[in-house]
Formats: sequence, C-alpha cells, structure tokens
Amino acid sequence: MRRRGLRTGRRERLPKVGEVFAAGDIDFRVFTTLVFRTDLVVDAEVLAVVDAALAANVTRWPSMTPGRLTAQVDKIVAGADADAVRRRRERQRDRQICFGPICEALVSLVHPADASPEPGYVPSKALADFVRCRNVTCRWPGCDRPAFGCDIDHTIPHSQGGPTHASNLKCYCRTDRGL
Ligand SMILES: [Zn+2]
Repeated sequence: MRRRGLRTGRRERLPKVGEVFAAGDIDFRVFTTLVFRTDLVVDAEVLAVVDAALAANVTRWPSMTPGRLTAQVDKIVAGADADAVRRRRERQRDRQICFGPICEALVSLVHPADASPEPGYVPSKALADFVRCRNVTCRWPGCDRPAFGCDIDHTIPHSQGGPTHASNLKCYCRTDRGL
C-alpha cells in the first residue's frame, strides 16, 4: 500500500522503519542513522520507496560500522531517487514537446559533491544540510554529538583558500571546535 502525506514528524517520514525500530529489531543508533541520512529526501514517492527498502534490509545490517551503514543507506536513496527522476522525465515527455538537452537540464539534479564551490564562508542551507546528513555526528574522533547541533567547519581554513565545498567541510561541535 502506498503511503502519502508523510510530513508530520521524523518517525512518520519512515513509518515502516519506525515499525522495525518499535519492534526492537534495530537499535537507536541504527534508527537515527537512517532518519538523518534520509532527511534530504523531500519527494513523498521516493521516501515511500526508501522506507520500504530500508525496512526490508536493515535487520540484515545489525553489526555494520557506521561508515558501511551510511553507505548502504545512501545506495538505497540514490537508487530510489534515480527511479523517481526517470519517472518524472517520462511524465514530462508525455506532457510537452521537448528538445533533448534542454529538457534534461530542466530536470537534472546537481549533487552537492559535484557542485562548484560556493563563494562565501557560510555554506548555503542546502550544502550545510548535505554535510550534516553525510557526517551524521561531530567528526571529532570519539565524539557522537548529532551533526544537526554542530557547526560546519572548513578543513582547510577559508582564510587560507579552503573552498566552501562538500569536500572541505565537516561537522564539529562547539566543544571540539574550541569555541
Ligand atoms: Zn564533538
């Protein structure tokens, strides 16, 4: 059954994963990883596919390291997203006369890791959200404060030419930034 209107809260965004968690089949660390890693998915259709795929697979991943777990989640999100983009393109082709590359450009999505560096010191909300979802927690070794409470830190300082780009940004909590 397709679920719609998944807007109310974090757990409600992934109802099937929520059921797996409520049943005790995954622990809180795994559950929060799934929630954070899928936070950028806004398309209800994609989210429903991701939720079902995660719920079907996650109990087979209990002993994964955080890095491998996030990689698995990203793979499922990327697969579901690609399907949704393809369906949107097909629907769009049905609706309008389309001149190849222009149409492709209209519906193409630029992944933050593939985008050009941003000009300012403070990353855009989209880039900051991406870095936080990617990092999940503070990147300081052994620190597990959630990334959504952390600052975005330039690995090579901006004042020394370090770009405001996903490859040069990470999450540090206030304590570990020394602020
Ligand atoms: Zn920290």
